[in-house]
Amino acid sequence: MPTLLDHSVETLPGIGPTMGANLRKRGYESVGDLLWLLPRGYDDQRQPTPIHALQDGDYAVVEGVVRRARSFPRGGRMGFEARLEPQDGPSGHDGYRELKLVWFQAIPGLGRRFVEGETVRVAGGVHDYRGTATIAHPELLAADVPGTIEPRYPEIPGVRRKALRRAVRAAVDRAVAEVPDLIPPALRAEVGAGTVGEALAAIHVPDPATFDGDTDAEPTTAAHRRLALEELVLWELALRLRRASERGGVARRFAIEPAVPSACGAFPFDLTAAQQGAVSEVSESLTRETPMRRLLQGDVGCGKTAVAMVACAQVAAGGAQAAFLAPTELLADQHAETLRPTAEELGLRLGVFTGALSKDQRRSMLDRMATGALDLVVGTHALLSGEIRFADLGLVIVDEQHRFGVAQRLRLGTRGSTRRPHLLVMTATPIPRSLALVLYAGLELTTIDAKPPGRVPATTKMIPRAQRATVFRQIERALEAEGRAFIVCPAISSSDELVGVDRTCEEMKARFGDDRVGQIHGRLSGEERRALMQAFRDGQLQVLVGTTVLEVGVDIPQANIMVIEQAERFGLAQLHQLRGRVGRAGQRSACLLSFEQPLSTDAEARLEALCDSDDGFRLAERDLELRGPGHLFGYRQSGASGLQFANLAKDRGLLERASDLADRIIGADSDLSAPEHAPARSAVDRWERNAAVREDAG
Ligand code: ADP
Ligand code: MG
Repeated sequence: MPTLLDHSVETLPGIGPTMGANLRKRGYESVGDLLWLLPRGYDDQRQPTPIHALQDGDYAVVEGVVRRARSFPRGGRMGFEARLEPQDGPSGHDGYRELKLVWFQAIPGLGRRFVEGETVRVAGGVHDYRGTATIAHPELLAADVPGTIEPRYPEIPGVRRKALRRAVRAAVDRAVAEVPDLIPPALRAEVGAGTVGEALAAIHVPDPATFDGDTDAEPTTAAHRRLALEELVLWELALRLRRASERGGVARRFAIEPAVPSACGAFPFDLTAAQQGAVSEVSESLTRETPMRRLLQGDVGCGKTAVAMVACAQVAAGGAQAAFLAPTELLADQHAETLRPTAEELGLRLGVFTGALSKDQRRSMLDRMATGALDLVVGTHALLSGEIRFADLGLVIVDEQHRFGVAQRLRLGTRGSTRRPHLLVMTATPIPRSLALVLYAGLELTTIDAKPPGRVPATTKMIPRAQRATVFRQIERALEAEGRAFIVCPAISSSDELVGVDRTCEEMKARFGDDRVGQIHGRLSGEERRALMQAFRDGQLQVLVGTTVLEVGVDIPQANIMVIEQAERFGLAQLHQLRGRVGRAGQRSACLLSFEQPLSTDAEARLEALCDSDDGFRLAERDLELRGPGHLFGYRQSGASGLQFANLAKDRGLLERASDLADRIIGADSDLSAPEHAPARSAVDRWERNAAVREDAG
């Protein structure tokens, strides 16, 4: 049933066809959409700032007496300027004595508004221009009515601020009461939660009586928390429904003896107790008819791959196949390289399936998968596409590398066979247990909580970019110890802002010699990358400059120094991953965090955390606190979760509440078919559609 929320934006006062079109371009089509365009902060227009107290960069409301108002020609147009002085004359304070207002393009009527000697009130951003406080294109406020608190909406090209405020305000007045609530009224009353409409109204039209002067709209108000709760309830509902749709089905059962013990003995090392624990949990699950749904997590370098390989051996011994999924082709290639020696040792026939295959190779791979001539296939998600047939797929391993959602999206068992494969998801980034249980709802959790013995943490140091000599000296020392150096840059090509692989490579060549330095990044072909890595492994190359392709799947035992350029641009989890690339043979190693000054407080906290700790779990907690889960998982903006308001690190309590509410809603109505759950049902459907888009984009 259409409601006022569905009316088009053009039905709001002040929105004509042009502004309407510009709003639509940004996805704001209806009155309801506009209600979710939330302010980034507020302009507090209640209290004028005295002219002497104005500060460069501040938003201010200023009242003053007009002096010297005049038009001036400017490039064929007319500009306008006026100066304001304090009403009570020059003060004895330090600071500005007057405020200059300037319009580079005059708007009609300015001359009438700015009459010398009259008092006016204006607002805008203050800039110090050559010692004079200046506001360009100020907003004109009525001088005789009390000031209000004006929401500051995100810039939308082609949409004027004032018009937008007016339109949103009208949307609130008209339609906010119709905003649907996921949580049905009875339950809401029971837990004492207000409506989403009330929360939105409070955010768009803050109450001057309670406004606390926090003009940055840090989402900490009760209203923001109410939206966060709504969002988390939606998320929890969506996860529960997905889980239900994926439940069921029967998997093949695989015997532990003799494959598992013999596979465990096939590595050049003894499995650690932590690995053995993981192996026994995984292998036990594989003996059951209920398809395994398990998350395997552990710090970088703890040896997850070995555990996964044992599972592959168990499945292969039962005559079935395993698929190992990597998030990108690049990573699939790299994984195949690291897996190959172990696969050979275990007698597993390994194949790689990526888009880089020639037509013939591809056909041959498809054939070998379909006839069971391969035990283990490494590839991207293409492996799960409809056209691909496995003779008997028994196990899917997903290496998520910072991403989540993929496992949630796998529609396993929907092709041909009624049997479902077992699923093992490996995360590169360890996350706190409580969070893992929520993010990977529905998966059982296995944690490897110790690293192989003899690992010495890499000595980690922050070095300002200006101190290049120190960096060179350290690399030199590392190479003298028969080592190898990785240099990671945030971009391939250098720019004003970014230190690129190209220039850094030149720099290193000039210092260490052309023939000792190589560069690696995503623009090289798989063949070129393989050759480079081989040369690096063999020692022909000793310094490898690259992008974050070096982050994963790279296992060069000799590597003993990692230099990260512009380390401030990387997330904590990613830095920790990169650091995990050195010292893998137990030798002394170093990680240098080269940074550009000045550092933001957050970046500094991140880099310091990395210097202080080698514990991935602790770092993950810290990263969550500092940047929220979107960053932890390498997603932009609101992250794969699609969460805008909730911060999973800080809102654990809220998350638990949401989880309870979702349980109660689903408990009462497992498919959300009851009329009071109609809003929840349609929100979940919408969430699913957006999730598909988000995950494809991610
Ligand atoms: P991650 O958990 O980060 O994926 P890997 O599986 O890549 O870690 O293992 C890291 C390194 O440790 C590899 O070089 C691997 O061969 C080695 N390794 C794994 N298990 C052990 C062990 N029990 N003893 C010694 N080295 C091990
Ligand atoms: Mg790994």
